[in-house]
Amino acid sequence: MGKHANLGPSSASRWLNCPGSVALCATVPEEPSSEYADEGTFAHDIAERAIRAVRDEGFATDVALDNLIGTESRCGRFQVDPAMAGHLKWYVRRCEELLAHADIALVESRVEVIPGKVWGTADFICVVGDALMVDDLKYGAGLAVSPIDNPQLKIYGLGAVERLRTTEPKIYEKLKSVRLGISQPRCPGGGGDYHLELAELLAWKEEVLLPGVAATEDPEAPLAAGEWCRFCPARATCPALREKALEAAQGAFSDVKALEPAAEPPSVEGLSVDQLGKALAAIPAVKTWIAAIDEHAYKLANRGVAIPGFKVVRKRSVRKWRDPEEAAELLSFILPEGVSPHHAPKLLSPAQAEKLLDKNARGLLGVCITSPDTGTVLVSESDSRPAISAGEVFDVLESGDNENE
Ligand code: SF4
Repeated sequence: MGKHANLGPSSASRWLNCPGSVALCATVPEEPSSEYADEGTFAHDIAERAIRAVRDEGFATDVALDNLIGTESRCGRFQVDPAMAGHLKWYVRRCEELLAHADIALVESRVEVIPGKVWGTADFICVVGDALMVDDLKYGAGLAVSPIDNPQLKIYGLGAVERLRTTEPKIYEKLKSVRLGISQPRCPGGGGDYHLELAELLAWKEEVLLPGVAATEDPEAPLAAGEWCRFCPARATCPALREKALEAAQGAFSDVKALEPAAEPPSVEGLSVDQLGKALAAIPAVKTWIAAIDEHAYKLANRGVAIPGFKVVRKRSVRKWRDPEEAAELLSFILPEGVSPHHAPKLLSPAQAEKLLDKNARGLLGVCITSPDTGTVLVSESDSRPAISAGEVFDVLESGDNENE
């Protein structure tokens, strides 16, 4: 995960399917990176250090990662804990197995397919016999990523081939096949391997990649909405996505005219199987558009723009014990005789403990309870929570947490 090129491999699915997105995205301000993205970058840094320790210093994967437990990110927001080390072991072990037989292995290396235009940073590349192996770490847990026909991996593969051709001609000449792999340790169902012949990969470059890149350079390049819109920086303002979402919803409910302002949405039980099929097919486009509206409105509201009927409030906080051991000790003194402070196998929650205590004893719990600040959310004005001031909004934004993300 390095710096992103204009036509970066990680967004290849978008710009190959929607060539007009490149020009449209250039008109929107750059999005600040999210907490998830920052955590992913940190995980990549740690994995890189572990692979180098395995490759260059002969450490076993488990030892290399256990040695990194406690390492903090530069921003101080993330730390390697046993869970992160465990997830990364899964990926680094795959690399370790390949390293034992590899003729060459590159970690976090820049690969270029069209100089200055299509390039990226591949997490792990190696050559074993006549096979090129490319491995990409995905630390996200929410969206399963498949390696099958994945354009990002194909670009890394092509970049690796090009790099070997120019720097390691003897190894390059032996290449016949390619394995493109994704390790997604936190997401069941994500990751896997995709095998293809080198000739197939080179044909994809000629037939898909080069025409796709040329299409992005056409000033009349069309916009085409689809599943790739999900991470498009222009999704909040894109006319093609808005049209697709409305068309999809209208198509799904055309028989019942559900989009007329005064009409009620149809009862779900009353939909025919045909209508259900159309409604289900419309969900991805409508969801992407709705999420884009939500994010855009939240950003504007946090910049002080008044959105009629809405306000920014603090998220509801779930109370928890400051120190569970201290709370268990206090509860063992004040709970009625015979009542255990544990709701097997866990300690009672603050709310459960309060139900068992009289009013006076409840007051004693205050010192043990904390209500962590979980950020803000944009809600309807009818919500009972007080609106927070512009100054408070700024503080919360600085701390980088919001429910709308
Ligand atoms: S939102 Fe979708 S259709 Fe619009 S520019 Fe982005 S990828 Fe293209």
